[in-house]
Amino acid sequence: MQRNQGGFSASVNAMYDKAVALMDLSPGLVEKIRICNATYTVRFGVRLRGDIHTFTGYRSVHSEHMEPVKGGIRFAMAVDQDEVEALASLMTYKCALVETPFGGSKGGLCIDPTQWEPHEMEQITRRFAYELIKRDMINPAQNVPAPDMGTGEREMAWISDQYQRMNTTDINGRACVTGKPLNAGGISGRVEATGRGVQYALREFFRHPEDVAAARLSGGLEGKRIVVQGLGNVGFHAASFLEREDGAKIVGIIERDGGIWSEDGLSVDDVHLHIREHGGVKGFPGATYSGNGAALLEADCDILIPAALEGVIHEGNANGVQAKLIIEAANGPVTSDANEILLEKGVVIIPDLYANAGGVTVSYFEWVKNLSHIRFGRMQRRAEEARHQLLVDELERLSKARDVPWTLSDDFKRNYLRGAGELELVRSGLDDTMRGAYGAMRHVWHDRHDVPDLRTAGFIVAINRIAASYTAKGL
Ligand code: GLU
Repeated sequence: MQRNQGGFSASVNAMYDKAVALMDLSPGLVEKIRICNATYTVRFGVRLRGDIHTFTGYRSVHSEHMEPVKGGIRFAMAVDQDEVEALASLMTYKCALVETPFGGSKGGLCIDPTQWEPHEMEQITRRFAYELIKRDMINPAQNVPAPDMGTGEREMAWISDQYQRMNTTDINGRACVTGKPLNAGGISGRVEATGRGVQYALREFFRHPEDVAAARLSGGLEGKRIVVQGLGNVGFHAASFLEREDGAKIVGIIERDGGIWSEDGLSVDDVHLHIREHGGVKGFPGATYSGNGAALLEADCDILIPAALEGVIHEGNANGVQAKLIIEAANGPVTSDANEILLEKGVVIIPDLYANAGGVTVSYFEWVKNLSHIRFGRMQRRAEEARHQLLVDELERLSKARDVPWTLSDDFKRNYLRGAGELELVRSGLDDTMRGAYGAMRHVWHDRHDVPDLRTAGFIVAINRIAASYTAKGL
């Protein structure tokens, strides 16, 4: 990985500076919004395998112009202070752009989760959570984490339980973290939310022929040749939805062990299964494999979706990128230096602060659901239920009348009647959010001739909102 010379934070700040140079804010406010308010570093020991192991973790709070602050917790060996601070700042701008009422935060634990058994991971996660809860770095009113790289529903359930054990009288305890499993207070559609958001973002982009033309493309998503880097939670869902629901062709997939290519298009679900069974993409039938996966970032394609790490497109390879459109499913995959090179080449970038905001958007729905203590969709459930009941009745009638070889299981009927309301609400809420935010960003991009790209436009929209919030309530 090659980051900007000054590091990840410097790269985000360079993009921020580029936007504020086009705005009319006082230097003091510019500095106040840019800087990271606080970073808490914790080192704790856990007795494991007959010895004490020491771990280092961080929780960084970038901006508290709105509370609680929000952002994921990452488990990875590359976690360090600069990384969590950069990611926390991106959360501030992201939340402002999609209008989730949060400040920005991020956490990380320096650990390789593959080296530990599940019960050991539980011990480590609970201990890390304990340290953060003690200092109000996890709290439904102050700081609400979520999944990120290396964490998921499992870790969020442990964190939520840990908080509730330590705060037995907090009736809103479940809202201390989002991305929980459904049976622990989660919300339908959160797991795939970031990937779904990437899909909705692309759909929205392709609804504007003028923008599509700016990327030297034409038509819709159907048949577009896509390369995706990283088949983790975000990349997998985004690529799978785009392939199955929009008719896009996934021609290249880059993973840790290398990259695979097929001009006919790869089945994302099959590749995903192959990775789970074999630990990598190597040997996937019908595709060309190369051990040098990063080289595929420079392969000929229409759309490139970096969905893994930050800093993967840098000064060293930006010139070679052939994609016409890049959508940043990961946080910070393009360094600020590379950003300028790509702009110069005419590549259009749908920036991270917009492109991957689907996760925090649905997190917001989950948080609201937890605080309101009512399952989403419950209010309109009677109407929904009646509608679904009609459909179930009709399907049953058909299955009997035609003597078809299937019946509707009770499980299906129950889940269908119960779950549909919430998932539909989540999806339509996410779609609405992604359309609204794109509109705001696009408006600035097209209306102001001095704004060169979508990223700068997105920053301007976000910074304006943060500035307005500071101006309204004071510092
Ligand atoms: N980790 C995700 C992100 O980078 C989700 C954050 C959240 O839901 O709070 O946006």
